[in-house]
Amino acid sequence: MTQVLEDEVAVITGGASGIGRAIARRFAADGADIVIADIQDTPREGGKPTHELIDEETEAETAYVECDVSSVDDLESAVAAADEFGGVTVMVNNAGIFHGEEFLETEEEAFDRMMNINVKGVYFGAQAAARRMVEADGGSIINLSSVAGLEGAGEFVTYCGTKGAVRLLTYAMASVLGPEDVRVNTIHPGLIETTMTTDDVSIIGSEDEDAFLESIPSRRAGQPDEIADAAVYLASEQSSYVTGESLVVDGGMTNT
Ligand code: NAD
Repeated sequence: MTQVLEDEVAVITGGASGIGRAIARRFAADGADIVIADIQDTPREGGKPTHELIDEETEAETAYVECDVSSVDDLESAVAAADEFGGVTVMVNNAGIFHGEEFLETEEEAFDRMMNINVKGVYFGAQAAARRMVEADGGSIINLSSVAGLEGAGEFVTYCGTKGAVRLLTYAMASVLGPEDVRVNTIHPGLIETTMTTDDVSIIGSEDEDAFLESIPSRRAGQPDEIADAAVYLASEQSSYVTGESLVVDGGMTNT
């Protein structure tokens, strides 16, 4: 039986952990070859490196490339690594960092770091992949934004700014790349259970968790696999007429 991502070659930034790891495993199970581009290959939540797991679980070709997405050279190397498997056809710009702050106390260094990873990393990751996709037969670029890219949250001013930027960069890229058969879309996760939301900003497992869940119609956090489902749709031919779109996966949090 044909698999939905057969013949696809995906580069996934931040694919060692959390949402990126779930996307990588699902893509491989659905037939894609996978390059994991991350600053580390050990998952933040523990366990075997994603590329080793994919090797065990699937027939997919897979590689890990050490890559800091705030470096344009690193991103170029990560995308180039996919050439070995036939060339990138799906780029998932997933790597990101999240922390809260007092707006009046935010320091330049922290602002620059988040901008460099969350925005510059997406911009140049998309550029490196798109250059190849334009030369080849097109492709799909998926950028990870957030519900924080749709509305402002006072304790996350910089994060909201980066994720809003990802949304509008995506629309503009879709406009430029549409005639080249390259589709560009965002996914906007709500509260998803990863190290980011258990440790970096303690929501899950904290005393505020119940109050937070009250604001979500589904009354629970989402799982990384539920974002992977959305990513498979945007990577595959099933979304062949979808570009410049925001896919919100948040248990109903934003619109209710
Ligand atoms: P995570 O912290 O579990 O995993 C992030 C991964 O990115 C890690 O493997 C980390 O090593 C990697 N990474 C960090 N900095 C990097 C860099 N400079 N270069 C390359 N890799 C780097 O986070 P997650 O929850 O899986 O989040 C993934 C994406 O989804 C992020 O862009 C995040 O903003 C977004 N998001 C997450 C949630 C959530 O609730 N977890 C909600 C909305 C959006």
